[in-house]
Amino acid sequence: MSFPIDRPRRLRSSETMRRLVREAQLSVDDLVQPLFVVPGEGIKNEISSMPGQYHWSVDMLVEEAKRIHGLGVPAIILFGIPESKDETGSEAWADNGVVQKAIRAIKETVPDLLVIADICLCEYTSHGHCGVIDSGDVKNDPTLELLAKTAVSVAKAGADIVAPSDMMDGRVGVIRAGLDKEGYTDTAILSYAVKYSSAYYGPFREAADSAPQFGDRRGYQMDPGNSDEALREVELDILEGADMVMVKPGVAYLDVLWRVKQEFGRVTAAYQVSGEYSMIQAASANGWIDRKKIVLETLLSFKRAWSSGRILTAGLERIYR
Ligand code: ZN
Repeated sequence: MSFPIDRPRRLRSSETMRRLVREAQLSVDDLVQPLFVVPGEGIKNEISSMPGQYHWSVDMLVEEAKRIHGLGVPAIILFGIPESKDETGSEAWADNGVVQKAIRAIKETVPDLLVIADICLCEYTSHGHCGVIDSGDVKNDPTLELLAKTAVSVAKAGADIVAPSDMMDGRVGVIRAGLDKEGYTDTAILSYAVKYSSAYYGPFREAADSAPQFGDRRGYQMDPGNSDEALREVELDILEGADMVMVKPGVAYLDVLWRVKQEFGRVTAAYQVSGEYSMIQAASANGWIDRKKIVLETLLSFKRAWSSGRILTAGLERIYR
């Protein structure tokens, strides 16, 4: 069958027709809003490298969480910037840590809003790496117990989902065992299974004050040239007990998102990271692009990267304001 019998334009004739035949749909249900929490009171400071995003103290964060819940966004993901940092990142699992306090306050006010706690040490360590340092190297196995302690501590505070982002080998299994041992069998794990060593994280490092003080993260985050390896990472995390997996960054790795979804059919998240966000903000501030259209088109590309089932998009919700 070909032209003139077949005319694809027939199904593009009006917005109603386009709605009827659209394959991928984006909704507010797809979104997760990342939020940065800091110590103190009455703080809402704009992050200069991420215009429109803020550092929130717990009291202000609760108000923002209410607003986000009111928009219909199902979940937030929390990143903490602690009062003080040390060699092991001990504020990460402190009962009175900034994220633990935030979770308790949010759960008291908006219990329906799902709270995801990012699990990593780089925001809490003085050296800015995601694990324990020995002789200038990030040690895998000694880091695992600290991650599990952190996961238990946020679960105890009320987190619904823990999201390990460190990229240590074996961490999902150790976290699952740690949670189960303490009775948190219903706390879900969203694994940053496929996290590339990416320059797109630049603005986040300012936001989370987590730039490594020496070296870089290429020894544990994935090499951007690999996608077979991504499938292996996802497989390992699923075998270890990941309930959901994530590909990060989003738009530069749509091929990987596609492969992961095709191969495993699991709930798969794509993270629209700080660099993606800030590029859109900067170009729209200059009047070069239509922000709303670009945001929707970009997020829709995550949905289109596979054909059915749910996806979570940690990214922008502000377009719904
Ligand atoms: Zn980290």
